Amino acid sequence: MEHAAEDRPGTLTALAAAEEACTRCPLYRDATQAVPGEGARHAPLMLVGEQPGDKEDIAGHPFVGPAGSLLDRALADAGIDRETTFVTNAVKHFKHENRGKRRLHKRPNASEIDHCRWWLDIERDIVRPRVVVALGATALRSLLGRTVSVSSLRRTVQTMDDQARLVATVHPSSLLRVRDRDDKAAKYADFVEDLTRAAKLICER
Ligand code: SF4
Repeated sequence: MEHAAEDRPGTLTALAAAEEACTRCPLYRDATQAVPGEGARHAPLMLVGEQPGDKEDIAGHPFVGPAGSLLDRALADAGIDRETTFVTNAVKHFKHENRGKRRLHKRPNASEIDHCRWWLDIERDIVRPRVVVALGATALRSLLGRTVSVSSLRRTVQTMDDQARLVATVHPSSLLRVRDRDDKAAKYADFVEDLTRAAKLICER
């Protein structure tokens, strides 16, 4: 995606306004609003999800729904204070389809992810996190610029072009869908382990 350098917002406030005005892909049309990233201005840890969900779209804040509650619990279990993190999404508008009164989540496609990458790159430039956690495959595609499975990078640590360390894990919403209690507990423990690895990386530098 080609954009002029003077288009780049230099602050999180300007970035949020620019995202709200964005029409680079069709997703702005059916969403309530853009949902910008939130958190500490120079957070050492950035968490990148997929896109806002139904509750986030209405509230205008990331990770305030059920997946956000699970993320909060996992961060606490990993010894991470969410107030010290920056939480955002790869795609800033809610993609969904209407089924009666319900709005069902739809996964953003590669073109939508790649168009919205412009904003995530600027967020990373402004916040400059030492460690980035990709929560799921959409975040991973946005951060790496290509499709890579979470399973292929899980339990590894990658170094990104700006020298930030990258940890790949699942999106917390995937844990909400696990029915079996033991399986759910095991997958949650793996998720916390990934977050703990990310927290340790912050201390390494
Ligand atoms: S999803 Fe991203 S690229 Fe698409 S309109 Fe919204 S802010 Fe722009």
